[in-house]
Amino acid sequence: MKEVHNFCAGPSLLPQTVYEQAAQAVLNFEHTGMSILSISHRSKEFIAALEEARQLSLELLGLDQKGYVALFLQGGASMEFLRVPYNLMQKKAAYINTGTWSSKAIEQAQMLGEVDIVASSEDQQFSYIPKNVRIEELVDYVHFTSNNTIYGTQFNYIPQTDAPLVCDMSSDIYSREFDCEKMDLIYAGAQKNIGSAGVSLIIVKEDILGKTKRTIPQMLDYQEHIAKDSLYHTANVFAVYTCLLNLRWLKQQGGVKVMEQLNKTKADLLYQTIDALDFVSGTAAVEDRSKMNATFTFKEEGMNIIFDQLCREANIANIKGHRSVGGYRASLYNAVTLDSVEVLTGVLQQMKTRV
Ligand SMILES: *Cc1c(COP(=O)(O)O)cnc(C)c1O
Repeated sequence: MKEVHNFCAGPSLLPQTVYEQAAQAVLNFEHTGMSILSISHRSKEFIAALEEARQLSLELLGLDQKGYVALFLQGGASMEFLRVPYNLMQKKAAYINTGTWSSKAIEQAQMLGEVDIVASSEDQQFSYIPKNVRIEELVDYVHFTSNNTIYGTQFNYIPQTDAPLVCDMSSDIYSREFDCEKMDLIYAGAQKNIGSAGVSLIIVKEDILGKTKRTIPQMLDYQEHIAKDSLYHTANVFAVYTCLLNLRWLKQQGGVKVMEQLNKTKADLLYQTIDALDFVSGTAAVEDRSKMNATFTFKEEGMNIIFDQLCREANIANIKGHRSVGGYRASLYNAVTLDSVEVLTGVLQQMKTRV
């Protein structure tokens, strides 16, 4: 099989060893003689895997033994746009709007209460992160998106508030050290840096729950999922197991600290290359550039054709920008190697001779 350099924004690349172990589990899950696709979600083997994944998900963020519970639920990060206000909204919440995903979260919250948009970067096509956000008003919770997958911007600080802080970390969880203890609820669709699509990780501090008087449908009720140990109904068995394999890999690599170093090296190389070439430019404000999703455009339309052609020749895949913004986007999640980034920067360098 030819080596492909896959920069997909999600579902993202996973380590080769995770693919191999997941494939093996489809054939014979942990010597049970059965496929993981056909075992009970209440079997002792699966429950052990789920519990290990829940434990590791906390441990790798330094959140174990600190009053947090981890859940692996279905519905993707988009489900949490709704589940969060159902559980936390009493009257009013504050949201920071930094792009499409934040906007969608805001729309869902508005169905259940008042939303104060306390900061926004919509005035400049979400190309930057609002600075020094501090929320002093009394709200039920504050919500922000740590990394904006589509626009390629990333928070380098945590907004200040005394209210419970909720963070959509879908596209940069486990990619860098971030003071997660400041957060009361973290959620992330698994398909960007945790595992395969079909499950999301929710990490919640139990003491913020149970305060709303609203009747919460059981499927949306975090307390119900906690009471059932993340097995209220059939779990996405295969996706949870894939998450476990990837979290184990992450721990073996040395955890988030080691990933942060590697991710910084990859992002620095790509951005330095972009900055040194006068025919290509990054689309995000330099100080807010994401280390997970690097967005860029060429100065002239015609260069896209040359770049696309060179990418095909170099086996570079999934480099197109999100359909809503165009341009290009290289997603540099944990499993993307420095080698792949070097191939991409090599192609950009090669374009010098073609323009
Ligand atoms: C991809 C993404 C989502 C949506 O995730 P789904 O699992 O597809 O619902 C939400 N927020 C962010 C930051 C994302 O990158």
